[in-house]
Amino acid sequence: MSVVLGSFVEMNGMVDLDERFSGARWAPNFAQSWPIAGWAAPLRDDGSAVRLRDFGVGEGVIERYSEWMLEMYRGKWDEIRSWLSEIGEWEVGVACWCPNTKVARAQLNRFGTYHCHLGIVKSVLVKSGVEVRMLNDERMVK
Ligand SMILES: [Zn+2]
Repeated sequence: MSVVLGSFVEMNGMVDLDERFSGARWAPNFAQSWPIAGWAAPLRDDGSAVRLRDFGVGEGVIERYSEWMLEMYRGKWDEIRSWLSEIGEWEVGVACWCPNTKVARAQLNRFGTYHCHLGIVKSVLVKSGVEVRMLNDERMVK
């Protein structure tokens, strides 16, 4: 199995993938028919969104956010494992809006990089032995 991580826009052109999943809280119109990798979305147990800004400002924000998200994915490990066994030998994509959001664009303009939960998804999958290719890797802070 291998997993490609990237934006909905990029993934939309990747018709050779065996399946494309939404890994975000909601999907654009053109991706409404894509199945949802629910475990990947940055959501708390109560369904509320996890946002970078929930972790304060300045020093340590990304570290606090990343630690929290890693812990969240650890808690969803059974769900992730069953998703991985479903995709089997396929090459699949998991998509997020970034960097095509106001927040990510502002980060790109200011820092030349942006932050996306898919960066954390990447490290979770890689640690599980999954082959991962990330589009936009060089611009994403992990
Ligand atoms: Zn994102």
